[in-house]
Amino acid sequence: MIRISIPGAAGRMGRTLIAEIAAGKDVELSAAVEPPGHPALGQDAGLLAGIDALGVELTDDLEQMIAGADAVIDFTLPEVTATLAQHCAEKNVPLVIGTTGLSDEQSERVRSAARAIPIVWAPNMSVGVNVLCRLVSEATRLLAEQYDIEIVEAHHRHKVDAPSGTAIRLAQVVADASASLGSLDERACYGRRGIVGKRPPNEIGIHTVRGGEIPGEHTIMFCGTSDRVEITHRAANRSVFAQGAIRAVRWAISQAPGLYDMNDVLQIR
Ligand code: NAD
Repeated sequence: MIRISIPGAAGRMGRTLIAEIAAGKDVELSAAVEPPGHPALGQDAGLLAGIDALGVELTDDLEQMIAGADAVIDFTLPEVTATLAQHCAEKNVPLVIGTTGLSDEQSERVRSAARAIPIVWAPNMSVGVNVLCRLVSEATRLLAEQYDIEIVEAHHRHKVDAPSGTAIRLAQVVADASASLGSLDERACYGRRGIVGKRPPNEIGIHTVRGGEIPGEHTIMFCGTSDRVEITHRAANRSVFAQGAIRAVRWAISQAPGLYDMNDVLQIR
């Protein structure tokens, strides 16, 4: 059994992860953590996740959570992720990170921790989105010279960062696959308002929709003068991300220290 600890256990992804771990044959919940003062502390993690009781109560003991685990899955907040990565490195426990919106300084702390432990870090854990990136790379290579490329993402109203980490990743995929047209920094256009002038041909438009309970949608449009190609991924629910994160744990626990992403896990490079 692979013992997995979950910080942010009462969150949307935390609860989904607990349910998916309980359903897995080779994994079990080691510990479930929320910060001091959180109203869910003391509750059974299974009941909180809407399944049968698991006999694991939510605690605020981050150190204990890491010490008792074979791996940690983190879907929390950027500042929590950066600190957690350092703790996991000190305790030599592999880490899977789904949290998005990290600053450069926080990202550097994660990279530094990955010198001591295997870390899988991906803005989107679904198999479908990682295949999507590959399709987008190929379509960009074939179309970028003549087609305008726009990315539109939609998420639930609770999401705090914008655009999504996945949209940023897709924009980077587009930029890398058409590098002769300029870097992402030179070409990115995050939304438009007012008299913005005609669209420069090499621009990469990135647009955000927020509302309701949308689990996550990304569309990449290749707009030509006579036709339009669209590639879309729609997550039906959060389980797809949780299943990907658990798959990443199974892979990570036997890897050497380093920073990996889902392409490494899925071997789709
Ligand atoms: P959420 O707000 O529902 O959950 C975050 C949880 O972290 C909360 O319960 C919060 O109390 C807890 N938390 C805060 N500080 C903590 C601490 N010090 N210790 C332990 N727990 C702490 O958010 P969510 O919708 O579950 O999303 C979490 C993150 O995951 C976001 O960054 C989101 O963008 C990202 N996400 C990534 C993927 C992916 O596939 N990579 C998929 C979905 C969401």
